[in-house]
Amino acid sequence: MKVGFIGVGNMGGPMCRNIVKRSNHQVTVFDLNAAAVKSCTDIGAAAAKSVAELTKGADVVMTSLPMPKDVEAVALGDNGVLANIKPGQTYIDLSTNAPSMVKKIGAAMAAKGIAMLDAPVSGGTVGAEAATIAIMVGGDKKVFDDALPVLKSFSANVIHMGALGSGTVAKLINNMMAFCNAAAAAEGLMLGVSAGLDPEKLVQVIANSSGNSAIFKPFSERALKGEFTPPSFALNLAHKDLHLALELADELDVPLALGSATHNLQRMARRMKLGGADSSAILRVYETVLGQ
Ligand code: NAD
Repeated sequence: MKVGFIGVGNMGGPMCRNIVKRSNHQVTVFDLNAAAVKSCTDIGAAAAKSVAELTKGADVVMTSLPMPKDVEAVALGDNGVLANIKPGQTYIDLSTNAPSMVKKIGAAMAAKGIAMLDAPVSGGTVGAEAATIAIMVGGDKKVFDDALPVLKSFSANVIHMGALGSGTVAKLINNMMAFCNAAAAAEGLMLGVSAGLDPEKLVQVIANSSGNSAIFKPFSERALKGEFTPPSFALNLAHKDLHLALELADELDVPLALGSATHNLQRMARRMKLGGADSSAILRVYETVLGQ
């Protein structure tokens, strides 16, 4: 298949390179960042000069972009995906998007006879590199089945969740749980340090105890080194994800006591100008409050 990949940053880059390395699909990329494009063309992908050029030549067009507004601009904006895509081609959004935006784009695509899947991913940059990420997909089952050869080329761990938007809902829930675990880790580590414990020993013991979680290893590695840049997963993106989960909870009138506390913690870190740092930089809020 001919695959067009728009947005080859921290996540899109390794996913795209895995398609090139692990399959016979012909891959063309587009990104505003020339270095990101080069990381894919260096190993055999072609580069398109525009979203329009990329879309016209592809069986499947995929996006992995930061914010819902970025996906909207690329999918529905002037000379974007919708303006250039034809029935028979498929559009797949891999970004962590808003369920409402997924449905808005899906409806616009459907009006033109175009099939869309939302297929957000989880597992971080390490999982994206190793081709082990979870891909949670919403949309028509037949469209999903047809897209599997492309999706499986960057991870075997693909799950069809249900109708369009359901992949995104699953992803927002996953990330809310992960960020709450990261906040608990920050709080626990700072309590330990304040009580005079050796942080390395504390990390070692938690890693083998019930306080452990999937986020604890990457979180504690960053925390012990005190290095929060460059980001693997930017705090601004994590804050966006939690905002979207809270928005969904508002729509459904579901309480998210831990989610909203963690969202506020992220906001404090953003106000400390850490939005571009890694999401684990929430630790700096505690360090600052504790004068460390
Ligand atoms: P990123 O900022 O590293 O990459 C985004 C890429 O999109 C950049 O290369 C940027 O130049 C490009 N871009 C932005 N606007 C564009 C446009 N209009 N046209 C073409 N290219 C454009 O972000 P990321 O960390 O790769 O995240 C991408 C998506 O994946 C986000 O929705 C994020 O929430 C989600 N996500 C990230 C992680 C992670 O660990 N980083 C994990 C799971 C999901």
